[in-house]
Amino acid sequence: MDDCIFCKIVAGKIPAKKVGENEGAIAFPDINPCAPVHILVIPRKHVASLNEVEDGAVMAPVFALAEKVARDQKLDQSGWRAVINTGPDANQLVFHVHLHVLGGRKMGWPPG
Ligand code: AMP
Ligand code: ZN
Repeated sequence: MDDCIFCKIVAGKIPAKKVGENEGAIAFPDINPCAPVHILVIPRKHVASLNEVEDGAVMAPVFALAEKVARDQKLDQSGWRAVINTGPDANQLVFHVHLHVLGGRKMGWPPG
C-alpha cells in the first residue's frame, strides 16, 4: 500500500528503531508512548484492520513477536497489555493492523 505509513516502515522508507522482527512481523516503539514500554507489532503484509484479517496466518507472527518483545522488555513477570484498536469507536488511527504492547506501569480496567 503506497500511502500506508506502516508499510513504509516495513519497506524502510520511514525510519523506525526496530526492536524485534520475525518472518511475518516487525516491532518498533510507538512515537507517542502511553506507558513506560509501548511497542507496536505489525504484520509485514498490509491488512487494514482486524475486520480484514481473513487468514489467521497473518496474525500468528504478530502474536509470537509480541510475546518475545514483552519477554525482552522484562514484562513477562510484572504483566503487560496487548491492544488492537479496530475502527472508529476504538480510535484506530493507522489502518495497518497493529498490536500495542504496553507495560511498565499498573494498567486500569476497564480501558477508557
Ligand atoms: P491506533 O491506530 O489508535 O491503534 O494507534 C496508532 C499508533 O501509531 C499511535 O499510538 C501512534 O502514536 C503510532 N504511530 C503513528 N505513526 C507512527 C510512527 N511513524 N512510528 C511509530 N508509531 C507511530
Ligand atoms: Zn500498510
